[in-house]
Amino acid sequence: MKTLKFKLYSHKRNRYLKRSINAAGVIYNHCIAIHKRYYRMWGKHLNCAKLQAHIAKLRKRNPFWQQVGSQAVQDICQRIEKAYQLFFKHNKKGVRPPEFKKVKKYKSFTLKQAGYKFLGGNRVKIGQKVYQFWKSREIEGTVKTLTIKRTPLGELFMVIVVDDAVEPEIRFTTGRIAGFDFGLKTFLTCSDGSKIESPQFFKQSLNAIKKASRQHSKKLKGSANRERARKNLVRKYEDISNTRRDWFWKLAHELTLRFDVLCFETLNLKGMQRLWGRKVCDLAFGEFLQILEWIAKKKGKQVVYVDRWYPSSKTCSNCGHILENLDLSVREWRCPSCQSVNGRDENAAKNICAVGASTAQVR
Ligand SMILES: [Zn+2]
Repeated sequence: MKTLKFKLYSHKRNRYLKRSINAAGVIYNHCIAIHKRYYRMWGKHLNCAKLQAHIAKLRKRNPFWQQVGSQAVQDICQRIEKAYQLFFKHNKKGVRPPEFKKVKKYKSFTLKQAGYKFLGGNRVKIGQKVYQFWKSREIEGTVKTLTIKRTPLGELFMVIVVDDAVEPEIRFTTGRIAGFDFGLKTFLTCSDGSKIESPQFFKQSLNAIKKASRQHSKKLKGSANRERARKNLVRKYEDISNTRRDWFWKLAHELTLRFDVLCFETLNLKGMQRLWGRKVCDLAFGEFLQILEWIAKKKGKQVVYVDRWYPSSKTCSNCGHILENLDLSVREWRCPSCQSVNGRDENAAKNICAVGASTAQVR
């Protein structure tokens, strides 16, 4: 499975898609209301098939609702069902049931097998209308779902999930394997001792966002100035994520040139957030790994994940001795068993590499 994203040409016709997204938001809220009412009346959960049948009936009488394809309506019901199942399973861990959403903030609708058709070139038919998109890459494989997304700036994107039929063969070109440790100042520490520093724009961009968001919160709610400030803030975010993404692509290419197998610890985004309180950076790690995986697959390289419960920082990479505890502020420690001096990040990277190497499947 692969996700491809294309921007739609801006065109007056796009208002139909935006209307569909709004209608999807209205239907979503209606479904939530029905769920709540059903529960109040009968004291049990309304099952998905019943809801779908009921909504399909309502849709027949409601032209506004018909702006959303029947497939997308089913998708809304299924999404809500999924959210409820998650809530039933994990409510003790604090998972909340799905709630009403502001229609203005509703972002997308999704079609599965029907309701759209690719007409060749950069044209796609959605419902009864034909739209054009910036075809930045070929669409190979079978299209599984098509989602139309609205950004906070009101631009439309088409996101499609394709089943890529051909598995690329793994090509071993360098014969090298490496482990990596993520950090804030040093973005990646490699097990071979090399370091990749976070580029300066990481920090600058953080300041720019802070400033823009301060500007935004100072403006009067509902005013034109506030709307302008909001757009400015969103634009800042987008600029930054574009610059960052460029850098990620370059870095991923570089690393896949240097190594055949690349090992990382699985990320604990929530935990990192608590530790650093810097949302921008944490999310960036996840994004980087996605890009790296995509490039690795293309080039026939392998990305391996090591369970994050493995004590990569506390284990001596030289002899395997495990420390009782290691404070976050300690950057370097001497192993009591073999006396070797371990730099915190490099030591972790070496351990991640060793564990990764033992689990990597060489095909
Ligand atoms: Zn040791």
